[in-house]
Amino acid sequence: MQQRPEDDDRIAPLGGLGHEERDLGEMVEVRLLRRTLSALTAMSERREVDHPRHQKEVWGSEWLKGRRHRAKHNASATHTKVTSTPVAPMNAPRARPALARASAVGRSSREMPELPDLLYIQARLKEALVGRRVVAERLREPIVMRFAVRGNLSLLLGRRLDDVIRHAHFLVFRFEDLDLAVNPMLAGRFRLAAPDEKDERDLVFALTFGPPEATSHGPRGEGDSMSDLRYRDEKNMGKAYLLAKGDWKAAAGMDQAGGVDVLAPEFTRERFVSLLKKRRDQVRVLLLDKRALDSIGNAYADEILFEARLHPKTFCRSLSHDDAVRLHDAIVKVMREAVAEVARRGEPIDVKVRDFLKVRLRDVCPRCGAKVRKAGVRGMDAYFCPHCQPATRAGLVDWTKTGK
Ligand SMILES: [Zn+2]
Repeated sequence: MQQRPEDDDRIAPLGGLGHEERDLGEMVEVRLLRRTLSALTAMSERREVDHPRHQKEVWGSEWLKGRRHRAKHNASATHTKVTSTPVAPMNAPRARPALARASAVGRSSREMPELPDLLYIQARLKEALVGRRVVAERLREPIVMRFAVRGNLSLLLGRRLDDVIRHAHFLVFRFEDLDLAVNPMLAGRFRLAAPDEKDERDLVFALTFGPPEATSHGPRGEGDSMSDLRYRDEKNMGKAYLLAKGDWKAAAGMDQAGGVDVLAPEFTRERFVSLLKKRRDQVRVLLLDKRALDSIGNAYADEILFEARLHPKTFCRSLSHDDAVRLHDAIVKVMREAVAEVARRGEPIDVKVRDFLKVRLRDVCPRCGAKVRKAGVRGMDAYFCPHCQPATRAGLVDWTKTGK
């Protein structure tokens, strides 16, 4: 019986409550309670961590999960389900990244890949690797891997990559009857490399693909050679799951998807307005909810709210119909433009193109010249322009008095 560590995390926020409180679950939404508690935990934990602030950009509470996993696995490394692959010592000193850099470009590299990045990476990997077979594998950071099937990465040997798909913030590599699902979290990066290229110090795993198979289109071309798919993660916060095909419930967070695709024609104004009516939370929280929208992270949530001129702490229910329509249109515009821009730039897939963002990690509003401010929304940093996105609620920080 293989225990999934994720299960512990799912119930952890309720762990401190007694049985009576648990019974309340029949009357209240347990999920809401858990989310509130984990947000509180996240907030209190954030204060204890001496990371530069920009390393803490997260989607949901998964950053926290990553920390728990690491703590657990460092404490009991022998429980990790691996593998014949040579393994670096768990507590080997790891070069710390430079502290948060002054430039927004430098800061952006600390941000999670989001929809535009993932779509671009997906397209590039599909183009480069689909139809090829795995001829070698190596796993350098077993703590990042989870196996929901009996075995290890060598199960992929000889298997053909059929497709690369995106599911929420996961990239899923489909190998015949197995799925390799990767959630890169904060610092995970994919890279295509020649197999003889030296391993990166933060390499998690590498799959070496053989040359493309000869097809009906003709024999193999001259440029067809072996290629490595490498996954690096300098923080080891990401997770990679080897699953039976379609067994996505075995991967933590994969089931937290299912929101409407914001790039699809089905994402209409009407649909969004009716979605908003059911929400009692803040707009930024809604934007980040993968069950509602597929899918937006911290950087583009800020850009969307800036485009819609809405303060990040605005409550959904306080939006007028015009506000709601403007917010819908901002989602579509910002996300489509970003997808196009990232694709147009054509950078290597381990480069995060964010220098075109207007407010995220910026110092000055490009619209009015005011100083961009930062606010905590559910434990995450939101960047906004206090003039272009004025507060509509009483009790928010008055930036003219903080002196910051
Ligand atoms: Zn402004």
